Amino acid sequence: MNGFLLEERKFVSEHVKFYEGEFTQGNGYVSVRASFEEGLRRAPQNEEYLRTMKSVTTEIQRHPLSKWGVYVPLIMGYNPFLEEVMINLPYFPAIKIELDGQPMDLMNCEISDYYRSLNMYNGVLLREFKVKTPLGGVIKFSFERFASMDEKHLFVQKVKYTVLCGSVKVKVQSGINADVTTNGYRHLEKIIYKAEKNQLHLTCSTDLGFGICMLSETSVTDTKSYDVLNKAEIEEREAYLTSEQVLTEGKSAELVKKTVITTSRDQGTEDYIQSADSILNACRVEYDVLFMKNNLAWQRKWQNSDVQVDGNEEFQKALRFSIYHLLRSNMENDSRVQICPKGFAGEAYYGRYFWDTEIYLLPFFIYTNPGAARNLLLYRYHTLAGARVNAARYFSEGARYPWHSSLDGTEQCSMWEYADNEVHITADVAYAVIHYYYATDDYEFILDYGLEILLETSRFWVCRVDRDKDGKISLLNVMGPDEYAPMTRNNAFTNRMVKKNLRSAIDMADMVKQNSPKVWEALTGRIAFRQEELEVFAEIAEKLPIPYDKERNLYMQSEDFESYADLNLDELWKDRSRAFGHYASQEKIYRSKCIKQADVIAMMTLFPDDFTDQEVEIAYEYYMPLTTHDSSLSPAGHSFAANRIGRKEDVRRFLKLAMDVDMNVNRHGAEDGIHIANCGYLWQLAVCGFAGLHMPTECQELKITPALPEDIRQISFHIYWKGELKRITVLRDAVRIQKEYEAILFDLDGVLCHTDHYHFRAWKVIADKLNLFFDEGKNNRLRGVSRMESLGIVLEEYPAELTEQDKYLLSEEKNQIYRGFLNEMSEKDLEENVKHVLHCLKEKQIKMAVASSSKNAVSILKKIGLFDYFDVIVDGNDIKKSKPDPEVFLLAARRLGKLPANCLVVEDARAGVDAAVAGGFDCAAVGDAAQYEKVDYPLKSLEDLIHK
Ligand code: BGC
Repeated sequence: MNGFLLEERKFVSEHVKFYEGEFTQGNGYVSVRASFEEGLRRAPQNEEYLRTMKSVTTEIQRHPLSKWGVYVPLIMGYNPFLEEVMINLPYFPAIKIELDGQPMDLMNCEISDYYRSLNMYNGVLLREFKVKTPLGGVIKFSFERFASMDEKHLFVQKVKYTVLCGSVKVKVQSGINADVTTNGYRHLEKIIYKAEKNQLHLTCSTDLGFGICMLSETSVTDTKSYDVLNKAEIEEREAYLTSEQVLTEGKSAELVKKTVITTSRDQGTEDYIQSADSILNACRVEYDVLFMKNNLAWQRKWQNSDVQVDGNEEFQKALRFSIYHLLRSNMENDSRVQICPKGFAGEAYYGRYFWDTEIYLLPFFIYTNPGAARNLLLYRYHTLAGARVNAARYFSEGARYPWHSSLDGTEQCSMWEYADNEVHITADVAYAVIHYYYATDDYEFILDYGLEILLETSRFWVCRVDRDKDGKISLLNVMGPDEYAPMTRNNAFTNRMVKKNLRSAIDMADMVKQNSPKVWEALTGRIAFRQEELEVFAEIAEKLPIPYDKERNLYMQSEDFESYADLNLDELWKDRSRAFGHYASQEKIYRSKCIKQADVIAMMTLFPDDFTDQEVEIAYEYYMPLTTHDSSLSPAGHSFAANRIGRKEDVRRFLKLAMDVDMNVNRHGAEDGIHIANCGYLWQLAVCGFAGLHMPTECQELKITPALPEDIRQISFHIYWKGELKRITVLRDAVRIQKEYEAILFDLDGVLCHTDHYHFRAWKVIADKLNLFFDEGKNNRLRGVSRMESLGIVLEEYPAELTEQDKYLLSEEKNQIYRGFLNEMSEKDLEENVKHVLHCLKEKQIKMAVASSSKNAVSILKKIGLFDYFDVIVDGNDIKKSKPDPEVFLLAARRLGKLPANCLVVEDARAGVDAAVAGGFDCAAVGDAAQYEKVDYPLKSLEDLIHK
């Protein structure tokens, strides 16, 4: 696949740490930095040191050559200097190698033809090189590994080694190394290793009591023998299975290691240690099978997530890089975690959650995987109790979300200027709630969770604002997104977000009060909410100022911004490849006009309709030269704003800066993890900035205003818009919006095959027996109708009344006759080209179901050779009401886990079309029914389905 490969073509020891971060692998459950399996002797991983909390922009971090990292976001520990931190777990990918008695270490041996790549399309990391051994032999290594996207607890490795010259004694040790620290601190306790045959088993726990289990199984095969002997070596914190062979020229061997990771915080299992066993059992299949399953699972991930850019290859790759890391760092089905600023690819931000998720990451998930977005927001609901505790600590009511959040939502940030003053996080959570709601129409989310968050956060603002003697309402002592201004008055960004928070609470309260009065009553009772509080919310929402200098038409970052000292950035900032923070003291920065990251500009991108192009231009001209972009959350936003006002050169410059954040090896950005907010912002830049999708926090309609930069000819992507999947293609002067279906529900008879003929013959036997007229014309009326209703039609002319019992017997008789005929069925009864059509749809990963009123659907499908194509079959045995009741389609959609809006029904009968429409499905039809006005897509033949 083009544009999906990240490559490293030369081994440079100074780049090891960068690529460890850049090539981080993961599947949402576990993230693993791309460290070499064999390690580097000059980079011990068990060093202990003291790390205290400092600003990460200026903190001088320890700089070892390599940093291992294995993270399961659920697993935290306690560091007395840092509080709750995510733990670096034992290094299970360890495979130590000795060649002719010497440890293989890429820094100490002669290597050639080094090549490494990460395939972002399937998450597979490949490393190849040749080594000259101490005795003059040459051996080629090829390492391949992946964190299975299919089985989230599984990590698979394969190492193939071939002797190219001479003969080489190869010792391979496959192990698990628990001699590791997190931020220089040892958190792992109760380390117990066991070895049995070719298995290593480790259990340990963190100092917060969370349990970890790793079970790995290794097999080594050479060309002759199977399973070269595995000898176990267990030390206190490390354990290995060893295999030794002498390989002569041309001979090769292969090691396959499967590791299962489970923890005491896993959901849906009572005994996580036991469950590791069962998972490994289920994974005892060929490497290639696991590989293929992982491929398929990744393919499904990319299906609706990819953004295709025509005209700028570098941007295309940066987008894929961003999407890859967003996908691999999100624990999609677990609402107890979010995504930390380093995307679980490093320890810099301790694995905690910031506003990054709500403002920078969430849009990607809202539009490509709303269920995942919902879970990210549910984290904030689950930690509402912690947010209430935070508010109480400030003698406030309501909920105040912490600047650093982890297990229970209480504040983990020990630096007061952020914890006390960077209050916008609380309004950012509210903004995300309302954004999610408008984009998805998920009313239940508002009922069950969202409204409570909105009301409680609004209550906090009531306590946090100050009123002066003239009644002016202000937010004082606030740090906006610009962390170089810690104690400002009425920060525009914060105030705008707070207004939105309060207004959203009022709007949602009105909606729920009106549509679900009982829920409103129950909620307000539970949190003792009084109607008058809404009036106070409205007053504050209206009066809170957005500082504006009328003379200059300039939105001010804060009311006191102009009172700060001017700073000559050009003079002070000697080397712009380093953060400005290194060239002036924090104290000087705090009293000067220099900005860490987009602040007014960030506000303008979040509320684009509030500001005219001219206002954006004036703000951009004023703030851009003062902005240092010392935070990675800044450049993409500047490219966005520059694009809006037509600053072409700046669009390119800031885009480059944003892409370089993690992808430029000389800037070292990815060393301590991925700047995942920048990844999310690059996605927003493509989809909202360039392609021009308006986020519905302000407008309700799907609105796209293309603003493609000169070099980009086309951008295409998928979004979910209010529950419906759409494919959007944006050209310079045109927008194409196509509805996409995730599943197709086929009626059986008349669509996939023809049983008409058999039914006709069977009914005819019954009709003849009763002396009733029955011909093809009458038979047409039976299409899509249940057996008893069909009988009703056959009996229309019958002169006498039949008892229910008689009718039942007649219908059974017809069925007997019909079933007899069915034995004659074969592929000859298939509609033309059906197999080809189904095959193509399957390749496109579209789910398929048969939804038929027939009670014989399964046996028919088997007879005509179509059974294996379908994910779900719902037939007359599963339903109570036949078409035109929508039951059969609704049940099929439910079993597929899809919304009706995202399924297409294919019918051949009017009753079926009516059923589809009644269930909220779009409908395609073949045959006579194609003329029916309710049909969305009349089909000439089934083949039209693949060309659509
Ligand atoms: C930025 C914050 C951000 C944090 C984590 C800081 O440098 O100033 O806005 O939330 O990094 O990404």
